[in-house]
Amino acid sequence: MAKYWTTDLQGKVLDECVQLHGGYGFMQETAVAEMWADARVQRICGGTNEIMKELIARAL
Ligand SMILES: Cc1cc2nc3c(=O)[nH]c(=O)nc-3n(C[C@H](O)[C@H](O)[C@H](O)COP(=O)(O)OP(=O)(O)OC[C@H]3O[C@@H](n4cnc5c(N)ncnc54)[C@H](O)[C@@H]3O)c2cc1C
Repeated sequence: MAKYWTTDLQGKVLDECVQLHGGYGFMQETAVAEMWADARVQRICGGTNEIMKELIARAL
């Protein structure tokens, strides 16, 4: 549950950060773009968040 919630929130926050920085936020050499990419993979590795939802549903 924690993995799903925190990585989902991290993605939402970093997406807002990219938006805030406008076009610069999308350029790979900027820190915010690197943070966005690092955040994006968190919903995939260690078991995707869709699989986390399955595991949570099974435990209910
Ligand atoms: C940077 C990185 C580091 C990694 N490090 C490691 C590591 O150290 N050790 C290790 O063992 N693995 C590691 N992995 C692999 C990682 O665990 C897998 O990428 C991850 O489990 C997803 O599996 P997959 O890539 O085969 O995607 P797939 O299983 O093919 O999934 C593709 C898409 O289908 C969805 N999906 C699949 N099944 C279902 C379902 N039943 N219900 C709903 N949606 C579903 C997924 O959510 C995803 O969106 C790493 C991956 C990355 C990107």
